Amino acid sequence: MAELVFEIKLDPNKCTGCGTCVDECPMGVYEIVTVGRKKQSRVKDLDMCLGCHTCELRCPYEAVKVYPPLEDLEKILQS
Ligand code: SF4
Ligand code: SF4
Repeated sequence: MAELVFEIKLDPNKCTGCGTCVDECPMGVYEIVTVGRKKQSRVKDLDMCLGCHTCELRCPYEAVKVYPPLEDLEKILQS
């Protein structure tokens, strides 16, 4: 099976920098940075991402999308 490459889209307008993604990601993909006066999440190490979608599911503000989406991932893994 070809190696899956994951992509993360963070919406800076929705992200409050709450840190939930940092706490919940098992692979340490995220960090909180300060941009201007605002804190927000940043992807620091995408290569570590397992595509588990925990960050997307736990973000209280729907600021994270992981690709491929969960529903596609199931099909890809079954093919
Ligand atoms: S959990 Fe969501 S709102 Fe909180 S820092 Fe992460 S991306 Fe931003
Ligand atoms: S999908 Fe999983 S491994 Fe990838 S950044 Fe989100 S929580 Fe971390």
